[in-house]
Amino acid sequence: MLKDYESFLENLNRVQERIDRAIVAANRPEGSVRLLPVTKNHPVAASNFALRAGIPCVGENRVQEALGKIEEANEGVRWELIGPLQSNKAKKAVESFWRIQSVDRPKILTALQKRAEDLDVKLRILLQINAGDDPNKSGAKVEDAEALLEYALEQDRLETEGLMTIAPLDRDPSVARSCFARLRECRDRLAERFDICLPELSMGMSGDMGEAILEGSTLVRVGTALYGDRKYK
Ligand SMILES: *Cc1c(COP(=O)(O)O)cnc(C)c1O
Repeated sequence: MLKDYESFLENLNRVQERIDRAIVAANRPEGSVRLLPVTKNHPVAASNFALRAGIPCVGENRVQEALGKIEEANEGVRWELIGPLQSNKAKKAVESFWRIQSVDRPKILTALQKRAEDLDVKLRILLQINAGDDPNKSGAKVEDAEALLEYALEQDRLETEGLMTIAPLDRDPSVARSCFARLRECRDRLAERFDICLPELSMGMSGDMGEAILEGSTLVRVGTALYGDRKYK
């Protein structure tokens, strides 16, 4: 973890420069890619740093870890779940997260809808798609995305804002890039099929955000490049 806020700002500037360069290379409009700092395995200070720098949303990949931090963090941080969710944690998740990016099966949709009804709230979600067909990654298969979205759209308490994917780890950057292209094409097909927008494409991390932005990412989820190695846990 970082020593202090100043070192966070230095890293943030470097990451922002990488994002800006990729936006120019992709010929996309300025400001069309947002940054989601990923604070998992870092102390709660990581989320407070982001908030102080004007970035309210942060990503966490484990419900249990996030719950502890949500208690402690400064007022105003918004938490996004980017890791696996079990349906028995759905209630806590709906109460605690501003958006859930890792929805990948009908059972979770049913559980979230029910909890959102109980709490009388609406919940933003993204559907996680395994666009790289990586056996080590969760996410619905691309072939199942249409049925999953159809079911998601029937849940009136859930607002489906787009898709999320995690690219396979590979030294060859073209592997990640084709995964991101596949997610974008999947989104375009679904948007046309259901006549909806699906504006958010959450794709790209510290190692592959350039490729993701070239393929249309609107949200890059960045941990290591902002906060250093996650070695303390
Ligand atoms: C950890 C994680 C990230 C951030 O990864 P870095 O390589 O540290 O930038 C992004 N997305 C998900 C889903 C993660 O679990």
